[in-house]
Amino acid sequence: MNEKRVAELIKELLKEIGEDPDREGLLATPQRVAKSWAFLTGGYRKNIDEIINKAVFESEANNMIIARDIEVYSLCEHHMLPFFGRCHIGYVARKHVIGVSKLARITDFYSRRLQIQERLTSQIARAVKDAVNAIGVGVVMECRHLCMMMRGVEKQNSIMTTSSVLGELHSDASTRAEFLNLLKGKD
Ligand code: ZN
Repeated sequence: MNEKRVAELIKELLKEIGEDPDREGLLATPQRVAKSWAFLTGGYRKNIDEIINKAVFESEANNMIIARDIEVYSLCEHHMLPFFGRCHIGYVARKHVIGVSKLARITDFYSRRLQIQERLTSQIARAVKDAVNAIGVGVVMECRHLCMMMRGVEKQNSIMTTSSVLGELHSDASTRAEFLNLLKGKD
């Protein structure tokens, strides 16, 4: 990403919304916004294989592994406004498991770009399934969308929930029920 070019565009945006980009409080804003966008969209410039690299371990475990309450911060592709919340990832291992911190890194990788929550949820599920060749994967995500809270319908308290289930969690109702029950276990 060309931060200098993005900063120029932000300066133009400031003018168009009726601001004076040369007033003191805004002088460094274009550069700051460009830096911020470079970070928030960093997923475009990372490699998923490098993220997963060396964090997949052999294991005899074939039980269900769940990581709850992974923080999610993303940007909706319709309004370029944040949506944020929590994501829960569960999988049934075949012969491999992945480090828990990597589940958070995978979530960040797909969050740090323009997204819709539905696609984000299924991309995470697919990436986890591929990374460990899991028997089944389930991802549930609960997010608040600023594009709904600050504008449009202005529904401040609505939380959108999406889910994606693959493999045995998709085909087997009792495995899926176990996953959902484990998620409900605590709050
Ligand atoms: Zn939106």
